[in-house]
Amino acid sequence: MTKAKIAVVGAGLIGLSTAVCISDSMPNCSVTVIADRYTPNTTSDVAAGMLIPHVFPGVPVHQQKQWFRETFDYLSGICNSSQASEAGIHLVSGWQIFKTVPEEKTPYWSDVVLGFRSMTEKEMKKFPQHKFGQAFTTLKCDCPPFLHWLEKRLKENGGRVHARKIEDLWELHSDYDIVVNCSGLGSRKLMRDREIYPIRGQVLKVRAPWIRHFIRDGDGLTYIFPGIHDVTLGGTRQKDNWSLSPDPRTSKDILSRCCALEPSLHKAQDVKVRVGLRPARSAVRLQKEVLVRGSEKLPVVHNYGHGSGGFSVHQGTAKEATRLIKECVVALEMSRWKAKL
Ligand SMILES: Cc1cc2nc3c(=O)[nH]c(=O)nc-3n(C[C@H](O)[C@H](O)[C@H](O)COP(=O)(O)OP(=O)(O)OC[C@H]3O[C@@H](n4cnc5c(N)ncnc54)[C@H](O)[C@@H]3O)c2cc1C
Repeated sequence: MTKAKIAVVGAGLIGLSTAVCISDSMPNCSVTVIADRYTPNTTSDVAAGMLIPHVFPGVPVHQQKQWFRETFDYLSGICNSSQASEAGIHLVSGWQIFKTVPEEKTPYWSDVVLGFRSMTEKEMKKFPQHKFGQAFTTLKCDCPPFLHWLEKRLKENGGRVHARKIEDLWELHSDYDIVVNCSGLGSRKLMRDREIYPIRGQVLKVRAPWIRHFIRDGDGLTYIFPGIHDVTLGGTRQKDNWSLSPDPRTSKDILSRCCALEPSLHKAQDVKVRVGLRPARSAVRLQKEVLVRGSEKLPVVHNYGHGSGGFSVHQGTAKEATRLIKECVVALEMSRWKAKL
């Protein structure tokens, strides 16, 4: 049986996690990641990396829940192992608070995270402007260490990485049998996909080691997410804004909103501003496609458009993409076998 050669375009969270998933479950294939940006220069490096699901309007809820559960269980396994600190994975407890009581007091993901419950009156006293709150424990990825860890895992499995910009997926046809497209916002140009658009996020990364609990305002705009080395303060959600330049007025506004929730942040140090463009789409594009050029064919599996929720669902979507790639490998073997007859 010939080894299938697989190229994964993209070295953000989605490309690396998909490449690791393929190399774990299909050791007979060769896997090469190709991307023009690697950690620490991807959108995935800017993220807070919290496992709190974001809603994809175009994906059935049961599917979103399955992706979230698979990701939570996978990261829990890493968190419970000796790899946890190198991979940057840790448990974090805290509060999601609301100024008006939400219609859905118990979200669909409440039985995936740990110890989900409504906040007590005593807990709510910390947030006098808010009327309702949820307390739970979830997982957080410290993003650059996690991306490094994934890249290392891929190389341990025999995978390779190349730095290169791809203008057209057909460039890969002569060297690879199957292409996996995890190019995030890059798919707007690469696949001429007009459905994908940026949601600009500006955050502050600060040193405030006394902050141990997360706080997220239910509207998702203001949040305090403590990591192993720094605390991420957010944020913004600016649809169709392509600017990667930090805006000083926005930074001031983020700090003041976070200090209103947690006044001790007035003493935060080493404030760094980061901006990232979330690759948003109504639904993640998780799909098989065969590109055709004359008599030539190029099987492609797409896995992009994770918007604000890539960290929360990446393992679930990587597993689904790997299942689609297995179908492509079977079809490839069949066509090679037929050609030999
Ligand atoms: C401020 C902020 C906070 C966030 N917080 C969270 C959070 O707490 N929890 C959560 O779940 N999600 C969060 N997210 C969302 C999360 O970051 C994204 O969903 C995720 O990073 C998307 O990963 P990706 O690999 O698709 O994209 P990227 O990280 O953008 O990677 C795309 C890759 O494709 C490559 N590429 C693109 N085009 C080409 C080309 N033509 N040729 C070669 N290579 C190409 C790029 O170089 C890059 O390597 C946040 C995002 C932001 C911006």
